[in-house]
Amino acid sequence: MISSITNQSALDESRKYFPGGVNSPVRAFKAVGGVPPFIVSGKGPCITDVEGHHYVDYVGSWGPLILGHADKDIISAITSAAEKGTSFGAPTVAETQLAELIVKAFPAIEKMRFVSSGTEATMSAVRLARGYTNRTLILKFEGCYHGHADSLLVSAGSGVATLGIPDCPGVTPQTASCTISIPFNDFEAFDMAFKTHRGHIAAVILEPVCGNMGVVEPVEGFLKMIREKTLEDGSLLIFDEVMTGFRSCFGGVQTLACIEPDLTCLGKVVGGGLPLAVYGGKREIMNRIAPDGPVYQAGTLSGNPIAVAAGTAALKKLADNPDFYTNLLATTEKLSESLLKAGRNRGFDLTLNRSGSMFTLFFTKDQVRNFSDAKKSDTVKFAKWFRGMLSHGIYLPPSQFEAAFVSGTHKQEEIDRTIQAAEKTFDEIKAHTHS
Ligand SMILES: *Cc1c(COP(=O)(O)O)cnc(C)c1O
Repeated sequence: MISSITNQSALDESRKYFPGGVNSPVRAFKAVGGVPPFIVSGKGPCITDVEGHHYVDYVGSWGPLILGHADKDIISAITSAAEKGTSFGAPTVAETQLAELIVKAFPAIEKMRFVSSGTEATMSAVRLARGYTNRTLILKFEGCYHGHADSLLVSAGSGVATLGIPDCPGVTPQTASCTISIPFNDFEAFDMAFKTHRGHIAAVILEPVCGNMGVVEPVEGFLKMIREKTLEDGSLLIFDEVMTGFRSCFGGVQTLACIEPDLTCLGKVVGGGLPLAVYGGKREIMNRIAPDGPVYQAGTLSGNPIAVAAGTAALKKLADNPDFYTNLLATTEKLSESLLKAGRNRGFDLTLNRSGSMFTLFFTKDQVRNFSDAKKSDTVKFAKWFRGMLSHGIYLPPSQFEAAFVSGTHKQEEIDRTIQAAEKTFDEIKAHTHS
C-alpha cells in the first residue's frame, strides 16, 4: 500500500495540536529551515520517514542510542518486562541490579535515585546540593544545557560572575539571580566567581565534556581546578553526564579524567532508549534525600520496570564487549576527519571538535573552546550543509550547536555513504554561492 502521508502533511496536522508541531523544540528544524521528516521506524544506524526515505542517523535520539535503533537484546528485554506488567509503583529487584551495574561503572556514585528524564536528574541534584550545603547559589557555564528546570535555564551575559538574567520568559528574576553563569574553559572567570561569592555557592554544575553548544572539551587542567576550588570552598561539584555517561567511555568523563564529583547525573544511554535517568553520588549526601533525609523528591513512574529492563540490557551489552568503545572511537575518527577534509579541500572554513563518539563540525576556522567561540560559526552555511546532507539521505542534528552521535551499528558502508553525501553537498553549496 502506498501511503499518502507526506512529511509536509504530517507537519500540517501535528501543528494543530503541538507548538511547532513537535514535542521538543529542536525537532521543528527552526534553525535550519525545511520540513522535518516524520519517522516511522529505525533499525541499526538508519531511520525511515513516512515518505519511505531512508537516512543514516547521526542524532540517535539525541544520544541514547549508542547501540543503534531497535537493538534486538534491548527489544527482547523490553518485551519480556512488559509482559510481566508495565508499572507497579513499588520496589523491584531489577532496580537494584541496574544500580549495581551503574556503581561498577561510576564508583563515585555510592547511592542514587532513578528518575525519568535528565531534567529531573539535574533539578533534583541542584535541590539536594542546596539542601545539603544550606547555600543558595549555583554556578554554571554559558552554553551548558542541564535540562529545562527554572534555575538552570539561565545563561547570563558575558560579565564575569554576573548574577543571572533570565533567558526565558517564565523564569522569575528571583530564580535566575541565584544562578551564576560564566564562560566554559575560563579559569579567571571561575576564580573571580569564587572570590566574589565565597561561602555562598551550593554547587558548580557542568557538562565535563560539553555537547550542548556543539562538542567542546575542557582544556588541560580545567576540571581539576574546578574540583580543587569546590573542595576548598565547601561547595559541591555536580557532573552532568546525562550525555557523556556510558558514551565517552563506560564510566563517563569522570573516569577518563580521574575526577570524583560529589554528585553525578546520568540519562540518555543509561535508559537504553527509554525514559530513565539517574542522580547519585556520595552516600553521605544522598542520605539527605527522603525518606532517609528531609530533601523531598519522588516520581510515580521512577524506576519503571520497562525502562529499567532496557537500561540493564544496554549496559550489560556495553560491559560485555571490551572493544566496543575502541571501535566506536575509530569509526568516529575516520568519519569526522573525512568530513573535515572533504569540506576543507573545497575551501570551507571548518573546525572539527570531537570527543569519543560525539562530534561537531563548526563552520568557522577558529578554535571553539566556549559558547561565544561556537557562536562565531556561520549558521547560514551550516543550515545549507544540513539541508544538503538531509536531501542526500544523511540525518544530522538540525542545529550548529548540537553534537552528532555515532553508534556501534555505523559501519564502513554508512561512513562511505555519508562521505559521498558530504562531497556532493559541499560542491552544491559552493556552486550555489558562486552563481
Ligand atoms: C539531554 C541533556 C539533559 C536533559 O535531559 P532530558 O532527558 O532531555 O530532560 C541534561 N543535561 C545534559 C548534559 C543533556 O545532554
